[in-house]
Amino acid sequence: MNVLKLLSLTILILSMPISARSSNSSFTFVNSENMQFTDDNKKEIKAIILKTINNVEMVLGQKLKQPIQFTLRVIDRSLADVYGVTGRADKIDAIEIALSSQYGNSLEDAIQDGLRGTLFHELHHTIRGWTIHGNQFPQGIDVATINEGLADVFAEIQINREMNKMAKDVNFDEWTNEVLQLPKNANYGDWMGLHPDGRMAVGYRTGAYLVKLAIKNSGKGIVELSSLSVGKIYQLAGYKQKF
Ligand SMILES: [Zn+2]
Repeated sequence: MNVLKLLSLTILILSMPISARSSNSSFTFVNSENMQFTDDNKKEIKAIILKTINNVEMVLGQKLKQPIQFTLRVIDRSLADVYGVTGRADKIDAIEIALSSQYGNSLEDAIQDGLRGTLFHELHHTIRGWTIHGNQFPQGIDVATINEGLADVFAEIQINREMNKMAKDVNFDEWTNEVLQLPKNANYGDWMGLHPDGRMAVGYRTGAYLVKLAIKNSGKGIVELSSLSVGKIYQLAGYKQKF
């Protein structure tokens, strides 16, 4: 392809409205045994996803890797603590979202309460490169804590509400020191999910605390913070990564 053709093609793509490019994203809906997506649910979910992608691109001042493959799944597990919705960034262009059939009166409640926040969170992961496949970061709960904290605080700022209903009056300074002392191969599920001692989501909650502290101490915004290293964010929050 000659330079002129390439240039005109580039101009053509750049001048297309964002919504036209976003609509190339694909959507796969997977029902659970108990509940199915209605046609209205699907339409609403697609509209919220496209709008959220546009919001993220505007906030970051950069384009996302497009198109993104979205898999939407109904699960029969309760997700009450996280407003009915959770997710996973599989790749920089593949996101899976799970909506609880047990939340509120219908799927509509989970869509309304939890979808946007989870989308902002997962889209943040794709930008930072914190994904299941093609992950850009080394192993360690200390690393996961900061990357999940960044995504949660980014989402929280966009939706103007905290990302989970879990208690905030815990000793996060103590939790931070605990996380920093862990061996790099510490059990992911224990520290990011349910700990054997009964605590939930230690890494996520500590991460949000640390990121907010780093914002407060540095005066930097969440977007600027999102491009900094894990070690630097610990430093801004007043801690030091051990290894
Ligand atoms: Zn996450």
